[in-house]
Amino acid sequence: MGNRAVFLDRDGTVNEEMGYINHPDRFILLPRVPEAIKLLKKYGFKVILVTNQAGAARGYFPASLIEEIHRLLQTQLKAQGTELDGIYYCPHHPQAAMPAYRQNCPCRKPKPGLVYKAQADFDLDLNKCYVVGDRFKDIELAHNVGAKGILVLTGYGKGELKYIAPTHPLKPHFVASDLYEAAEWIVKDAHLND
Ligand SMILES: [Mg+2]
Ligand SMILES: [Zn+2]
Repeated sequence: MGNRAVFLDRDGTVNEEMGYINHPDRFILLPRVPEAIKLLKKYGFKVILVTNQAGAARGYFPASLIEEIHRLLQTQLKAQGTELDGIYYCPHHPQAAMPAYRQNCPCRKPKPGLVYKAQADFDLDLNKCYVVGDRFKDIELAHNVGAKGILVLTGYGKGELKYIAPTHPLKPHFVASDLYEAAEWIVKDAHLND
């Protein structure tokens, strides 16, 4: 029997949606995020970030900034007594300005590459996993890997719910006001299905 995980989108889910985070000063953790991660970990979930970060590929900032931001994220979480178990990002874009990152890769969400990598690293049972994000791309990712998808209303979430949800073929398993509410729902849902 494999482990279970909650995959978190980054921008708009964990930190404020600001467009490209092209400077550490633009990285602002959303309220209750450390508490949400603590709750999930307390109930035995691996908590794993999966994020598309094409800004470096587009030439907006150096690739090293992506990992710098992720170190900053972990540092801020550790200061609150928690941390992410894993961070996976896609640095590619099919029309990237930088040739090194210009590819139609298998890891750009909603493609499943990042989740499959984490599945191998953490021995995950994807049917017991969840994806939380502020865009339907994240709901599509959940669908593509056989996990449950939760839409949060932070970041782009409210707009996605209002303008994308009515005609989108997929439905989120739950719509949460923020990551903490998503975590509470996940803990209950996982318990009911044990
Ligand atoms: Mg997002
Ligand atoms: Zn990629």
